[in-house]
Amino acid sequence: MCTRAPHGAMQLVLLAVGLWFTACQSPATSATSAPAPAASATLSAPVSGAIAKAPPWSRPGYVRPKIIDFHGHLSIYGVDAIATILDDNGIDQIVNLSGGSGRGGGRSWILSRVLSERFGGRVLNAMNVDWRGFGQQGWAEREVANLRTAVRDQGFVALKISKALGLGVEAPDGKLVMPDDPRLRPLWGEAARLGVPVCIHVADPKAFWAKPDASNERYAELSAHPSWTYFGKAGVASWTALLDASERLFQQNPKTTFVAVHFGNAAEELDRVDRMLTRLPNVWIDVSARVGEFGRHAAEKVRAFFVRHQDRVLFGTDIGISDSYLMLGSNGEQQPTMADVRPFYEAHFRYFEGSDRQIAHPSPIQGTWKVDAIALPDGVLNKLYRDNALRLLAAGRQRRSLMVR
Ligand SMILES: [Zn+2]
Repeated sequence: MCTRAPHGAMQLVLLAVGLWFTACQSPATSATSAPAPAASATLSAPVSGAIAKAPPWSRPGYVRPKIIDFHGHLSIYGVDAIATILDDNGIDQIVNLSGGSGRGGGRSWILSRVLSERFGGRVLNAMNVDWRGFGQQGWAEREVANLRTAVRDQGFVALKISKALGLGVEAPDGKLVMPDDPRLRPLWGEAARLGVPVCIHVADPKAFWAKPDASNERYAELSAHPSWTYFGKAGVASWTALLDASERLFQQNPKTTFVAVHFGNAAEELDRVDRMLTRLPNVWIDVSARVGEFGRHAAEKVRAFFVRHQDRVLFGTDIGISDSYLMLGSNGEQQPTMADVRPFYEAHFRYFEGSDRQIAHPSPIQGTWKVDAIALPDGVLNKLYRDNALRLLAAGRQRRSLMVR
């Protein structure tokens, strides 16, 4: 579901490698190496020659814009694979949600920045939180300062909160820290001040709370990852309690923009996500690793959802790339290969653009059922694939340009 950039002693070696990359100044790809351009100049610009042959399901006349994948997990180890994947799939930019925390003096930030520079800004980074010391004197101040440094000095564009809230992070009293814990508020305030969205993962698929036996619809995935089940785990909140806490968090911090990843973390409950987006204008969602789940709802209903909320839905896949590691939304026991990446992206495109019934979704390990494509209108597709991400990133840049340091 989510992986992290490598860290530890190897970082020093990587740092040297990364600095070498910077010194070489030779872009890994032939695509544009300019930093993210102004939104108004590039909205919906077509891919030039990236996709050679139209698949049979493609919609005549629709030209897919250059994609921005707002949900990736990238490592500088995977620089060659990243280059290939971006170019082979018409991806202009990707947001690396594993940019690293301030742990160890922020060494992982430097690696992530080097990765971004290596790709001429096509890779953008989000900062992760160092939860050590949560609830103790100075924790919030440290993380606020870290976010400021990551954004201002390392060029990071977002804050990523892992699913640890309510599932892993403990307060000094031993209780799990819920997403709406007031001790987190300084972080949300600083994100708002800096104009960076908070990409937040809360809970997991509902099936991870059910008994992990053959009757569980995610049995194959849970069998491959036995530690992912929450069934019978003491102290862990229910799925509903976690989702309710996340909505309180969004409501209590209206100046902060939240990207509730994985389809608002509630792909099973389309109506809940619909209500949340309607009620809370500071909330966006991404579609990462959940096409198979929200695709189970009636196609007409899902299509209407995307049309209704067309300005606050981001394209993302939860792709993870390192040198010896590849993740496509989620993995089974067998790791995918580079040959699987194109079909993975194509399955997304086919679902959103096509009109075929009963097609495979992008991550079959999440369930073997089929989904019906939703044939979104051209304008909605363009916003999903690119324009919304550009608008969100541009708003942050504009805010920071007006700030007094
Ligand atoms: Zn992820």
